[in-house]
Amino acid sequence: MPNSNSRRKFISTSIKGSMALGLTQGLTSYASAPQPLPFQQAPLAYAYGALEPMIDSMTMEIHYTKHAATYTKNLNEAVAAEVKESQSLESLLGKISQYSAKLRNNGGGHYNHELFWKCMRPAGGQLQEGPLKDAINNAFNGYDNFKAKLSEAAMTRFGSGWAWLYVDEKKNLQIGSTPNQDNPLMDASPIKGKPILGLDVWEHAYYLKYQNRRAEYVSNWFSIVNWKEVEKNLLLARP
Ligand code: MN
Repeated sequence: MPNSNSRRKFISTSIKGSMALGLTQGLTSYASAPQPLPFQQAPLAYAYGALEPMIDSMTMEIHYTKHAATYTKNLNEAVAAEVKESQSLESLLGKISQYSAKLRNNGGGHYNHELFWKCMRPAGGQLQEGPLKDAINNAFNGYDNFKAKLSEAAMTRFGSGWAWLYVDEKKNLQIGSTPNQDNPLMDASPIKGKPILGLDVWEHAYYLKYQNRRAEYVSNWFSIVNWKEVEKNLLLARP
Protein backbone atom coordinates (compact mmCIF):
# COMPACT_ATOMS: atom_id res chain seq x y z
CA MET A 1 0.00 0.00 0.00
CA PRO A 2 1.45 3.37 -0.92
CA ASN A 3 2.55 5.49 1.96
CA SER A 4 -0.07 8.06 2.85
CA ASN A 5 2.47 10.65 3.93
CA SER A 6 4.15 10.62 0.56
CA ARG A 7 0.70 10.80 -1.03
CA ARG A 8 -0.20 13.87 0.99
CA LYS A 9 3.14 15.40 0.21
CA PHE A 10 2.65 14.71 -3.49
CA ILE A 11 -0.82 16.22 -3.50
CA SER A 12 0.38 19.23 -1.56
CA THR A 13 3.28 19.73 -3.97
CA SER A 14 0.96 19.39 -6.95
CA ILE A 15 -1.47 21.93 -5.59
CA LYS A 16 1.26 24.43 -4.84
CA GLY A 17 2.74 23.92 -8.29
CA SER A 18 -0.60 24.42 -9.94
CA MET A 19 -1.41 27.49 -7.91
CA ALA A 20 1.95 29.02 -8.69
CA LEU A 21 1.17 28.64 -12.36
CA GLY A 22 -2.30 30.07 -11.97
CA LEU A 23 -3.89 26.83 -13.10
CA THR A 24 -7.17 25.73 -11.64
CA GLN A 25 -7.17 22.32 -13.25
CA GLY A 26 -4.07 20.96 -11.58
CA LEU A 27 -5.86 18.65 -9.19
CA THR A 28 -7.07 16.10 -11.69
CA SER A 29 -5.21 17.16 -14.74
CA TYR A 30 -1.91 16.06 -13.28
CA ALA A 31 -0.17 15.77 -16.62
CA SER A 32 -1.34 19.09 -18.03
CA ALA A 33 0.69 21.30 -15.71
CA PRO A 34 4.42 21.76 -16.17
CA GLN A 35 6.01 19.97 -13.29
CA PRO A 36 9.45 19.80 -11.82
CA LEU A 37 11.45 16.87 -13.05
CA PRO A 38 11.64 14.05 -12.50
CA PHE A 39 8.20 12.75 -13.38
CA GLN A 40 6.81 10.59 -10.61
CA GLN A 41 4.14 7.96 -10.26
CA ALA A 42 1.26 9.18 -8.14
CA PRO A 43 0.61 6.78 -5.26
CA LEU A 44 -2.29 4.42 -5.89
CA ALA A 45 -5.49 5.48 -4.15
CA TYR A 46 -6.25 1.86 -3.23
CA ALA A 47 -4.39 -1.30 -2.21
CA TYR A 48 -3.04 -3.70 -4.83
CA GLY A 49 -5.70 -6.23 -3.88
CA ALA A 50 -8.59 -3.75 -3.81
CA LEU A 51 -9.70 -4.48 -7.38
CA GLU A 52 -10.04 -8.23 -6.82
CA PRO A 53 -11.55 -10.36 -8.16
CA MET A 54 -11.57 -8.32 -11.38
CA ILE A 55 -7.83 -7.64 -11.27
CA ASP A 56 -5.69 -9.77 -8.97
CA SER A 57 -3.32 -8.29 -6.42
CA MET A 58 -0.12 -9.67 -7.95
CA THR A 59 -0.97 -8.30 -11.39
CA MET A 60 -1.61 -4.86 -9.88
CA GLU A 61 1.61 -4.91 -7.87
CA ILE A 62 3.80 -6.00 -10.79
CA HIS A 63 2.01 -3.66 -13.17
CA TYR A 64 2.43 -0.63 -10.91
CA THR A 65 5.85 -1.29 -9.36
CA LYS A 66 7.59 -2.86 -12.39
CA HIS A 67 5.98 -2.08 -15.73
CA ALA A 68 4.67 1.42 -15.03
CA ALA A 69 7.65 2.35 -12.83
CA THR A 70 9.97 1.48 -15.69
CA TYR A 71 8.08 3.75 -18.10
CA THR A 72 8.45 6.59 -15.62
CA LYS A 73 12.16 5.96 -15.09
CA ASN A 74 12.83 5.74 -18.83
CA LEU A 75 10.73 8.84 -19.49
CA ASN A 76 12.92 10.80 -17.10
CA GLU A 77 16.06 9.57 -18.85
CA ALA A 78 14.69 10.51 -22.26
CA VAL A 79 13.54 13.94 -21.09
CA ALA A 80 16.94 14.64 -19.53
CA ALA A 81 18.64 13.70 -22.80
CA GLU A 82 16.28 15.34 -25.30
CA VAL A 83 14.07 18.04 -23.86
CA LYS A 84 15.60 21.45 -23.34
CA GLU A 85 12.90 23.40 -21.55
CA SER A 86 10.48 22.32 -18.85
CA GLN A 87 6.99 21.70 -20.17
CA SER A 88 3.93 19.63 -19.50
CA LEU A 89 3.77 16.01 -20.55
CA GLU A 90 0.67 16.79 -22.61
CA SER A 91 2.54 19.45 -24.52
CA LEU A 92 5.41 17.05 -25.13
CA LEU A 93 3.08 14.31 -26.37
CA GLY A 94 1.47 16.81 -28.75
CA LYS A 95 4.76 17.07 -30.66
CA ILE A 96 6.11 13.61 -29.93
CA SER A 97 7.01 12.97 -33.57
CA GLN A 98 9.97 15.34 -33.06
CA TYR A 99 11.47 13.09 -30.41
CA SER A 100 12.86 9.59 -30.05
CA ALA A 101 10.96 6.30 -29.84
CA LYS A 102 12.16 6.10 -26.24
CA LEU A 103 10.42 9.33 -25.34
CA ARG A 104 7.28 8.35 -27.26
CA ASN A 105 6.99 4.89 -25.71
CA ASN A 106 7.79 5.93 -22.16
CA GLY A 107 6.05 9.30 -22.22
CA GLY A 108 2.93 7.53 -23.42
CA GLY A 109 3.52 4.72 -20.95
CA HIS A 110 3.73 7.13 -18.01
CA TYR A 111 0.74 9.22 -19.06
CA ASN A 112 -1.47 6.25 -19.90
CA HIS A 113 -0.86 4.40 -16.65
CA GLU A 114 -1.34 7.46 -14.46
CA LEU A 115 -4.74 7.90 -16.11
CA PHE A 116 -5.54 4.18 -15.90
CA TRP A 117 -4.94 3.89 -12.12
CA LYS A 118 -7.12 6.89 -11.39
CA CYS A 119 -9.94 5.64 -13.59
CA MET A 120 -10.36 2.50 -11.49
CA ARG A 121 -11.76 1.88 -8.00
CA PRO A 122 -13.02 -1.10 -6.01
CA ALA A 123 -16.17 -2.61 -7.55
CA GLY A 124 -19.56 -1.20 -6.72
CA GLY A 125 -19.61 2.11 -8.51
CA GLN A 126 -22.28 2.54 -11.15
CA LEU A 127 -22.54 5.25 -13.75
CA GLN A 128 -24.85 7.72 -12.04
CA GLU A 129 -27.12 10.35 -13.55
CA GLY A 130 -25.05 13.37 -14.51
CA PRO A 131 -23.02 15.01 -17.26
CA LEU A 132 -21.04 11.88 -18.14
CA LYS A 133 -24.09 9.66 -18.44
CA ASP A 134 -25.82 12.32 -20.54
CA ALA A 135 -22.79 12.65 -22.80
CA ILE A 136 -22.52 8.87 -23.22
CA ASN A 137 -26.23 8.58 -23.98
CA ASN A 138 -26.00 11.35 -26.55
CA ALA A 139 -22.84 10.11 -28.23
CA PHE A 140 -23.46 6.35 -28.19
CA ASN A 141 -27.19 5.94 -27.76
CA GLY A 142 -27.05 4.45 -24.28
CA TYR A 143 -24.62 2.82 -21.85
CA ASP A 144 -24.97 -0.69 -23.31
CA ASN A 145 -23.97 0.49 -26.77
CA PHE A 146 -21.12 2.50 -25.29
CA LYS A 147 -19.86 -0.57 -23.42
CA ALA A 148 -20.15 -2.72 -26.55
CA LYS A 149 -18.25 -0.17 -28.61
CA LEU A 150 -15.42 0.34 -26.11
CA SER A 151 -15.19 -3.45 -25.67
CA GLU A 152 -14.95 -3.89 -29.41
CA ALA A 153 -12.16 -1.31 -29.59
CA ALA A 154 -10.32 -3.26 -26.86
CA MET A 155 -10.88 -6.62 -28.53
CA THR A 156 -9.91 -5.56 -32.04
CA ARG A 157 -6.66 -3.90 -30.97
CA PHE A 158 -4.23 -6.52 -32.27
CA GLY A 159 -1.30 -7.08 -29.94
CA SER A 160 -0.49 -4.50 -27.26
CA GLY A 161 -2.25 -1.19 -26.88
CA TRP A 162 -5.06 0.79 -25.34
CA ALA A 163 -8.75 1.43 -25.88
CA TRP A 164 -9.92 4.97 -25.23
CA LEU A 165 -12.89 7.12 -24.47
CA TYR A 166 -11.73 10.58 -25.51
CA VAL A 167 -12.92 14.07 -26.40
CA ASP A 168 -11.91 14.87 -29.97
CA GLU A 169 -10.83 18.21 -31.35
CA LYS A 170 -14.46 19.16 -32.09
CA LYS A 171 -15.35 18.33 -28.45
CA ASN A 172 -17.23 15.19 -29.42
CA LEU A 173 -17.00 12.07 -27.29
CA GLN A 174 -15.28 9.28 -29.24
CA ILE A 175 -14.09 5.72 -28.81
CA GLY A 176 -10.94 4.34 -30.41
CA SER A 177 -7.73 2.48 -29.81
CA THR A 178 -4.00 2.98 -30.27
CA PRO A 179 -1.06 0.54 -30.45
CA ASN A 180 1.80 0.20 -27.99
CA GLN A 181 1.87 3.14 -25.53
CA ASP A 182 0.51 5.69 -27.99
CA ASN A 183 -2.52 7.79 -27.09
CA PRO A 184 -4.79 10.38 -28.74
CA LEU A 185 -2.71 13.29 -27.41
CA MET A 186 0.13 12.37 -29.75
CA ASP A 187 0.56 14.23 -33.02
CA ALA A 188 1.61 10.85 -34.42
CA SER A 189 -1.75 9.24 -33.55
CA PRO A 190 -4.45 8.80 -36.20
CA ILE A 191 -7.10 9.48 -33.53
CA LYS A 192 -6.67 12.82 -31.78
CA GLY A 193 -8.10 14.35 -28.67
CA LYS A 194 -8.02 14.26 -24.89
CA PRO A 195 -8.33 10.81 -23.27
CA ILE A 196 -10.78 10.68 -20.37
CA LEU A 197 -10.80 6.90 -19.81
CA GLY A 198 -8.20 4.37 -20.89
CA LEU A 199 -8.23 0.58 -20.88
CA ASP A 200 -4.87 -1.17 -20.92
CA VAL A 201 -5.03 -4.25 -23.14
CA TRP A 202 -1.37 -5.20 -22.90
CA GLU A 203 -1.12 -8.82 -21.74
CA HIS A 204 0.81 -7.62 -18.66
CA ALA A 205 -2.47 -6.04 -17.48
CA TYR A 206 -4.39 -9.32 -17.34
CA TYR A 207 -2.35 -12.41 -18.25
CA LEU A 208 -1.74 -13.87 -14.77
CA LYS A 209 -5.46 -14.17 -14.12
CA TYR A 210 -7.04 -14.31 -17.56
CA GLN A 211 -4.31 -15.76 -19.83
CA ASN A 212 -5.74 -15.53 -23.37
CA ARG A 213 -9.21 -14.43 -22.23
CA ARG A 214 -9.02 -10.73 -22.99
CA ALA A 215 -12.79 -10.52 -23.47
CA GLU A 216 -13.41 -11.66 -19.90
CA TYR A 217 -10.91 -9.12 -18.54
CA VAL A 218 -12.53 -6.34 -20.56
CA SER A 219 -16.03 -7.28 -19.46
CA ASN A 220 -15.05 -7.46 -15.77
CA TRP A 221 -13.08 -4.22 -15.95
CA PHE A 222 -16.26 -2.18 -16.50
CA SER A 223 -17.35 -2.94 -12.94
CA ILE A 224 -14.22 -1.29 -11.48
CA VAL A 225 -14.31 1.91 -13.53
CA ASN A 226 -14.25 5.04 -11.40
CA TRP A 227 -17.03 6.88 -13.24
CA LYS A 228 -16.74 9.94 -11.00
CA GLU A 229 -13.13 10.36 -12.10
CA VAL A 230 -14.07 9.91 -15.76
CA GLU A 231 -16.77 12.53 -15.31
CA LYS A 232 -14.22 14.94 -13.84
CA ASN A 233 -11.97 14.29 -16.81
CA LEU A 234 -14.85 14.97 -19.18
CA LEU A 235 -15.63 18.29 -17.52
CA LEU A 236 -11.98 19.33 -17.69
CA ALA A 237 -11.76 18.38 -21.37
CA ARG A 238 -15.12 19.92 -22.26
CA PRO A 239 -15.99 22.56 -19.67
MN1 MN B 1 0.21 -1.48 -18.62
